[in-house]
Amino acid sequence: MASDSLSSGALSSTQNSSASNMALGTQAADDMSRSFAMTSKLDAVIAWGRRNSMWPLPYGTACCGIELMSVMGPRYDLARFGAEVVRFSPRQSDLLVVAGTITEKMAPILVRIYEQMLEPKYVISMGACASSGGFYRAYHVLQGADKVIPVDVYVPGCPPTPEAVLDGIMTLQKMIKDHTPRPWKDNWKNPYEQA
Ligand code: SF4
Repeated sequence: MASDSLSSGALSSTQNSSASNMALGTQAADDMSRSFAMTSKLDAVIAWGRRNSMWPLPYGTACCGIELMSVMGPRYDLARFGAEVVRFSPRQSDLLVVAGTITEKMAPILVRIYEQMLEPKYVISMGACASSGGFYRAYHVLQGADKVIPVDVYVPGCPPTPEAVLDGIMTLQKMIKDHTPRPWKDNWKNPYEQA
């Protein structure tokens, strides 16, 4: 009986002390919030959110598409950059990753997908084929995605290493952070639209 009352007394004293700690913590937080204020520019906060939550649409048409998959996997872990939420719907994506050879037949589809993405949107051209047609100097291969859509970052290689793709993502993040002007994007016109 005595030990019961002792243990219930100990319990109640622990509860009391945790309640008073909470009160002290709240008081300290209140005092702290009065003693300083954090300021930032709204566009800096928005850019912070944008660059750390890009949702990529992988337009993988060839071997580079396979390499891109490894960037998403646990070893390279694109999630560290907040860009692992892959979407196959242009209306839910803001980062188009062109990974592979683009034929002339595919080009209008690529343009349509780009147009369906919401603003602000960005494009990474991954690998030699997407950036310049690669070794396909042929009539049926588009000699670079930038012939039809505005490209922000080119990642070299055949295929590029996952590290190079991550470097491309970080380059794009820096561009968003610095509000880098993008005349190639601002002056872009759909090449398939009649003038
Ligand atoms: S750049 Fe090389 S790896 Fe990438 S799609 Fe072209 S041939 Fe394949």
